[in-house]
Amino acid sequence: MATTKSAPAGRGGIDWAGLGWMFLFFWYFSGVTQALIWASGIAGSTGSRQALLASVLWLIPPLLFPGRTRLLAGAIGALLWLCSLAGFAYFLVYGQEFSQSVIFIMFESNVNEASEYLGHYFSWSIVLVVVAYGLGGWLLWRKVRPVYLPRRAALLASLLLFTTSVGYQGVRQLLKHEEFQVALDDFEKRIEAASPWQLVIGYRHYLQQLANMEALLASSERIPPLKNLADVHAGQPVTLVLVIGESTNRQRLSLYGYPRPTTPNLDRLRDELQVFDNVVTPRPYTIEALQQVLTFADQEHPDLYLTTPSLVSVMKQAGYKTYWITNQQTITKRNTMLTTFSEQADEQFYLNNNRDQNARQYDGGVLEPFSRVLADDAPRKFVVVHLLGTHMRYQYRYPQEFERFTDRTGVPDSVTDDQLPTYNSYDNAVLYNDHVVSSLIERFRATDPNGFLLYLADHGEAVFDAPDPEVLGRNEGAPTSPMYTVPFILWNSPKWRAQQPRDFATALHRPYSSSHFIHTWADLAGLRFDGFEPDKSLVSADFKRRPLLIGNPQQPKNLIDFSLIKPKKPADPSSEFAQREREGKERPL
Ligand SMILES: [Zn+2]
Repeated sequence: MATTKSAPAGRGGIDWAGLGWMFLFFWYFSGVTQALIWASGIAGSTGSRQALLASVLWLIPPLLFPGRTRLLAGAIGALLWLCSLAGFAYFLVYGQEFSQSVIFIMFESNVNEASEYLGHYFSWSIVLVVVAYGLGGWLLWRKVRPVYLPRRAALLASLLLFTTSVGYQGVRQLLKHEEFQVALDDFEKRIEAASPWQLVIGYRHYLQQLANMEALLASSERIPPLKNLADVHAGQPVTLVLVIGESTNRQRLSLYGYPRPTTPNLDRLRDELQVFDNVVTPRPYTIEALQQVLTFADQEHPDLYLTTPSLVSVMKQAGYKTYWITNQQTITKRNTMLTTFSEQADEQFYLNNNRDQNARQYDGGVLEPFSRVLADDAPRKFVVVHLLGTHMRYQYRYPQEFERFTDRTGVPDSVTDDQLPTYNSYDNAVLYNDHVVSSLIERFRATDPNGFLLYLADHGEAVFDAPDPEVLGRNEGAPTSPMYTVPFILWNSPKWRAQQPRDFATALHRPYSSSHFIHTWADLAGLRFDGFEPDKSLVSADFKRRPLLIGNPQQPKNLIDFSLIKPKKPADPSSEFAQREREGKERPL
């Protein structure tokens, strides 16, 4: 046996307890969150097994350099702890597992949105738990002690640990796949539940996606044009307006029967509007939803946006000058997916540039550029207006004078006193959104246009709504109907109506997914081309009813029909909602 200068504690044997403490320390940063996720039944044991195996890797440095065990363990532990915070906190707030798509969505949001998110979910109890979590790591670190092995045994053990942890899977995936990239992707899937890989891999995938987007913008130029494009209105001056809302659940609009008068202006315009009351979004996130709304991609063909023209491109091909006015988070012209769409337009108005005044950003800012665009002398115009709508934090979405809902009047009994300010601020945000959308319609109408304006929201939002009155926000992993039900309204100008009379009465209640929106838009605009499917148009006589698929289309097995969303727990039998339901006035959506 080799002699060492500093005598090991358990000379002649292995200090198993020392090894155990060391392992427990490294495991802690991946294992705690994964164990919580497993225990709460959100996901199976795969993540916990991954955490176990991946944590084994960190035993190697202290075994090879036992003299520096405390320093090495401290440095590795600090890194693991830092990288694990996002996943740990995400679980605390959302009760869900952190994933690549969360990172993706985080990076898609700008600084404004991210800090608002924090404000939205901030609570001292979360801070306490996070501090306790860090304290636990520190206490374990105090238990870490050097484990001395004879040099050759240490090397052998390291090799064994490396193989167990990552080596075996790495080699296996390399042998299994011919392409290195595919092997790497598969390998990553096997370690991504553990810190720090969750962040590292997520960020790498995000960068990949970003590069894809840049390439997409370049290659969108090369997507072959539509074949056999025909336009009923060819050669006429036409202005078509698409208003995209944000995080607006139609159930909170009085236009859709909500008891509080949250949309007085649209209610007043009701006779001029076609109000479609059965449209849902495929996905409760902006980018993921609009990726389908604004392209030929849908839940069954999620990648079609890469190879087929976007709505902006379709309209350009039909001879329209295209404009993109956005009050959405664009500190700069960010190279993101949404930017890809907006950059395809002829002119852009990025209004949300103000980094410091992030707290207050009102959609009223779109009105002035909208009027300017309407005054542009291009004969054929397609205008996209992208609102911030009723995105959290709700109280930042409206000026003081729109703070009209402040008490319990019209509020369901299920809303607690703690929840009331948030509940009210959402209704106030809807009220201001009503002002913006109706103002857009009125400004448009004032130009006596030949065309139409269509408003829909990218997705809904749960703000303590029945039948899950405890849910706030959006979560594809735990869907509730308010996250999906969106307003969808159409204003046709008198000139347009005269030219293209159409009876909408049969279409207003059709169940429809906005994932097929491009076909509805083309139909309304009087466009025909190869690939246009009238049965996917909400307003076509050939409309065909389809399942309203929701969920992540990258996991097709998990797609479900919107109507299969079940309340998370049975409604409180004494609640107003439950009473109305018993009386047959309410049916769970
Ligand atoms: Zn959104």
